Amino acid sequence: MAKSSFEYVRKFETEERCLPNTWIVIRIDGKGFHKFADIHSYEKPNDKRALDLMTKCAKFVMDEFRDIRIAYGQSDEYSFVFKKDTNLYNRRSVKLMTNVNSLFTSSFVYFWSEYFGNTKMSYPPSFDARIVLYPTNKNLRDYLSWRQADVHVNNLYNTTFWSLVLKKGLSNFEAEERLQRTLASDKNEILFSEFNINYNNEPEVFRKGTTIVRTKASSQKTNEKFVQGLEVLHCDIIGDKFWNEHTHILGPYS
Ligand code: ATP
Ligand code: ATP
Ligand code: MG
Ligand code: MG
Repeated sequence: MAKSSFEYVRKFETEERCLPNTWIVIRIDGKGFHKFADIHSYEKPNDKRALDLMTKCAKFVMDEFRDIRIAYGQSDEYSFVFKKDTNLYNRRSVKLMTNVNSLFTSSFVYFWSEYFGNTKMSYPPSFDARIVLYPTNKNLRDYLSWRQADVHVNNLYNTTFWSLVLKKGLSNFEAEERLQRTLASDKNEILFSEFNINYNNEPEVFRKGTTIVRTKASSQKTNEKFVQGLEVLHCDIIGDKFWNEHTHILGPYS
């Protein structure tokens, strides 16, 4: 077919490819979810339905994109880590990022009612996305550790804040003032002495966030075989234990 005289406009398109041999991390995060959570009456400080919905969407994304080795989520965000040697979309960053983001977002709407029942969505939510490349395993582990440390800081604060508001009747402003310049140990103490809450006994899904990995099954024929299943964990991923038990995540399996 003869080219049209308009075809030249294609040359204006640019195409960025992710550097070879680097971990590709795509993080999506809900846009304005502070408001979205309020409007849809999310339970404070943690709405388990919302977290479960986010994880359902993340599993759906991992089912579709088989080169994702591990995903980590908390609050309104999820990070997806593509294996270093993925060749998906020829490593074109915009293709990777937009496809992951839009599948996650449409899944969020598609599966909403499974988790929120008759609570109607008031408006269509959206997520932003970014893509970051990490050259070494240490960089990648530090990235994931950073996200998990973030959960810890936020959740300890939120648990204390909402205890003061919901159980002690403080206004948001008063609770904020009370927590200004407090250390983690102070918040632990407030929770324990005023609300009889031992923070370490709070559900792990709230304290540790959610990690999704592919399940590993042994096979006699091949050394190791990686099956379709996904495993959802709420454990520490900062220390070495998790990585020693899941060596296949950073390893060269295909
Ligand atoms: P931005 O568009 O910049 O991301 P945002 O309002 O989404 O703004 P975030 O820093 O992403 O801000 O914070 C997400 C907010 O969404 C949380 O602070 C909390 O208010 C709410 N939220 C998200 N998930 C939950 C949940 N499972 N339970 C309760 N609240 C939640
Ligand atoms: P890619 O993922 O690379 O975009 P694709 O299958 O979406 O692959 P496109 O070049 O985007 O390929 O083409 C979209 C195709 O979807 C069309 O070729 C056509 O077959 C189908 N399609 C889209 N919209 C319509 C429509 N309104 N009516 C009939 N067919 C449609
Ligand atoms: Mg957000
Ligand atoms: Mg967020």
